[in-house]
Amino acid sequence: MKIDLLPYAYFQGNIVPQDEAKVSIATHALQYGTGAFAGIRGYQDASGETINIFRLPEHSRRLMSSARLLRCELDLDPDGFADVVRELVLKNNPQSDVYIRPFVYKSGIELTPRLKGIEDDLAIYMIPLGDYLAMDRPLKLMVSSWVRSTDNTIPSRGKISGSYINSAFAKDQAEEAGCDDALMLNARGKIAEASAANLYIVRNGTMITSPITGDILEGITRMSVIQYAGDLGIPVEVREIDRSELYIADEAFLCGTGAQVAVIGTVDGRPVGTGQRGPVTEQIQEIFFSVVRGQNAQYENLLTRIPVHG
Ligand code: PMP
Repeated sequence: MKIDLLPYAYFQGNIVPQDEAKVSIATHALQYGTGAFAGIRGYQDASGETINIFRLPEHSRRLMSSARLLRCELDLDPDGFADVVRELVLKNNPQSDVYIRPFVYKSGIELTPRLKGIEDDLAIYMIPLGDYLAMDRPLKLMVSSWVRSTDNTIPSRGKISGSYINSAFAKDQAEEAGCDDALMLNARGKIAEASAANLYIVRNGTMITSPITGDILEGITRMSVIQYAGDLGIPVEVREIDRSELYIADEAFLCGTGAQVAVIGTVDGRPVGTGQRGPVTEQIQEIFFSVVRGQNAQYENLLTRIPVHG
């Protein structure tokens, strides 16, 4: 997916034209992957009058946690960060759904792969973004032979740039095999997550998702889905998932900022349930989209609304 950036970016403490936001080829984060990012969606409100940013405070807090893992010393708190995002969205005044990509990174020019004491910075760019995975058909997934990196190699709970090599190996393998995406097992052989999304399966009316100690990113959509399920009266179990449970599940779906709520049709060539969207996934999808489009008063508090003009 080649991307066109929106006109303004945040770089070295200022909002600047995006083509002025450039770093040296010797930048530590570029050489070693020593950065952490966030992926935040802004949806056009049904009225067309606002861009609705989904769970900005939670994305802010997770970015700060990832930065902490990387021993970044940025002088920024979650509220200050959220203000910067708000300001950038106002400046870009997007006319479509957008994706906001903040990046906290080791900006120093240093040779040694270490974390401590290296200068860091925050940069943010924005792009227009529609569906990241197909939403008009069930997805074809495979279980990858690439193992999810473990908490003692590169922690998955931090959204660390370098760890996305692991996702990229799995994604390539899946696409070469004619699939849309990969599910990765963790080192204990249990299902962790997809290349850039969390997983839910449904068995006998219960939704099941892997625990945050299972080498997954602590997904903000995953957490929201737990809340939606609770309000719908659908039981949720947070526990390890075996590979073979995918083969006998009634339904399965991916969730994430990019993935949204995406139906899984097959895994390893085997249909999941009927191979089509099931009733639980349908209910979760309906809530998800009504919330982000600003049409669900119950979850209005999950949105940061930013006015846009035509
Ligand atoms: N897992 C991985 C590896 C991801 O990259 C993402 C996307 N951020 C997710 C899960 C989903 O997380 P979220 O719902 O916070 O976007």
